[in-house]
Amino acid sequence: MLNRRKFGLLTLAGVAGMTAVPRLSRAAEKDTFSTLSDGHLELPASFLVPKPARSELAALGVDIGETLTPACNVTLLRSGDRLVLFDAGSGPNFMPTAGRLPASLDAAGIDPGDVTDVVFTHAHPDHIWGVVDDFDDPLFANATHHVASDEWDFWRSERALTELPEERHSFVAGARNRFGAIEDTVALFKPGDEPVPGVEAMAAFGHTPGHMAFIVHGAEPAMIVGDAISNEPISFLRPDLAWGADQDPDKGAETRMRLLDRAAGEGVKIVGFHLPNGGIGHVERKGTAYRFVSA
Ligand SMILES: [Zn+2]
Repeated sequence: MLNRRKFGLLTLAGVAGMTAVPRLSRAAEKDTFSTLSDGHLELPASFLVPKPARSELAALGVDIGETLTPACNVTLLRSGDRLVLFDAGSGPNFMPTAGRLPASLDAAGIDPGDVTDVVFTHAHPDHIWGVVDDFDDPLFANATHHVASDEWDFWRSERALTELPEERHSFVAGARNRFGAIEDTVALFKPGDEPVPGVEAMAAFGHTPGHMAFIVHGAEPAMIVGDAISNEPISFLRPDLAWGADQDPDKGAETRMRLLDRAAGEGVKIVGFHLPNGGIGHVERKGTAYRFVSA
């Protein structure tokens, strides 16, 4: 059983202790970030990794089994008087194993009404369905919701229905519904913009047409990669591999290699929404491959 106090709040800097859950004190804690657990997903491996790739992975000593159970890590950034979440989790209606963010916030002593900004990497169910509560009202009632304009345009377009297979049409309906719920508080941004001061948006297209990564500038810069780098060890060992969850697998692989090259080259921390142990770590280069080292 997941112990949220122990695993749900993984701090990078400054916040006292792993088990002590601090009350929010914005003035005292500047520019710290951590991740909060939204639970995990359960996905058939066949959906993510095509058969031919499985034997290539087996040759590298990776047996992915039949079911993948990726963690879901929502990043929490405290910066000045801002309390920022990156993505909002699944909410109650996607998978029984996910949607735990409200409980994790509660365990961390954070009132959803105190969140000032929610910044989205993309609009898949496990990242955006959690913006509403059980009554379909915005959960983060006082927050500005920052959505990349490419992502906003894609999910609202006819293209979304024609380009995605039938079994993904619920993703389209879900994204449109959540966008509708937060519409009055949406701020659109583009690559290169700072949706929140000190947080630079980077195009990381491929997983979805408007998927974004973010560089959090500061004394200890970090890269929030969302689902551009989503599986440990496969995304690191074989970043070039076509990944079934990526809407455009070639572009997804290109983005993954670019982000890994930069993270390893600059030595920045990365935070991955689906990476293990809270999702925070750094990237080591290993020949043409990489390795994720948890913080
Ligand atoms: Zn995801």
